[in-house]
Amino acid sequence: MDDGTIYMGVDVSATTVKAALVNADGEICEITQEAIGDDPGVVLEGMRRSVERLRDRASERRWPIRSAGVGVPGLVNARTRRVEVAPNLPALVKVDVSAAVAELVRCPVLVENDANMAAYGEFTCGAARGRSNVVYIAVGTGIGAGVICEGKLYRGSLGFAGEFGHMTVDPEGLPCACGNRGCLETIASGPNIVRRARERLFRDRSSSLSSLALPGELTPERIATEALTGDDFSLMILEQTGRWIGIAVANVINLLNPDMVVLGGGVMVAGELLLNPIIAEVKRRAFAAMAAQCEIVASLLGGQAGVIGGAMLARDTFG
Ligand SMILES: [Zn+2]
Repeated sequence: MDDGTIYMGVDVSATTVKAALVNADGEICEITQEAIGDDPGVVLEGMRRSVERLRDRASERRWPIRSAGVGVPGLVNARTRRVEVAPNLPALVKVDVSAAVAELVRCPVLVENDANMAAYGEFTCGAARGRSNVVYIAVGTGIGAGVICEGKLYRGSLGFAGEFGHMTVDPEGLPCACGNRGCLETIASGPNIVRRARERLFRDRSSSLSSLALPGELTPERIATEALTGDDFSLMILEQTGRWIGIAVANVINLLNPDMVVLGGGVMVAGELLLNPIIAEVKRRAFAAMAAQCEIVASLLGGQAGVIGGAMLARDTFG
């Protein structure tokens, strides 16, 4: 299917901008990544630099870019194509991202929620290739999801569908950036895994992580690393996190009866240590017939799901 046509995928997160040139088969030909730190003011500048760098690379190689897809961590209105809500990246709200990118690459550009992009990547080129009904869940700084329904990205009436991280799992829980209380994200996102670990460490000094309980030194990756070396405390934190995510996944399986649930995002560096408690909780809570038929797996494309998905969604939208 690779006919020399090139598509661009851009994945903007709260901390990095990733951009790639991808062929029609979903293979990455060039990729670039830029840290944007915690300063929202530099997000658009970082995005512009990444897009320009790839545009120039494509032009040197005489690869015409057919179209581009940009993923952003927020609610993208399907009608206005603007980002309406972005608790983890407020700088993007109301910005016409597609116009800004189209001005640089001179081709059709679409903007989509980042988890929707990654879901489309896993569906077309990754773990869920060949499936029809798929839920992709990204656990990172926030928790998002993309739903593939009967082979198509399901957007809902405004384009906001898939806000899995804002499912209420604890009615008396902590306030969430979305305005609700007790969302899954307030318990199981990367920063909240760290918060829970830190709170427990002040009570339990036996873990090898206790010296890292100071702000800034504890990360979800570090907890995963310690768990892999057998630290009981880190294993317990991941087990609890998996159980909370599993409760929400069981609800989604009962609601949508998917063929597959794919788990991705930075926190999934923990691999089976997180996946196994999720699967166990789903078996406890979802209808047995639906749980048995639904495979729950780790992402195949990892951190590249977003850029590949963006390029493939542009390919399938604009031709
Ligand atoms: Zn929320």
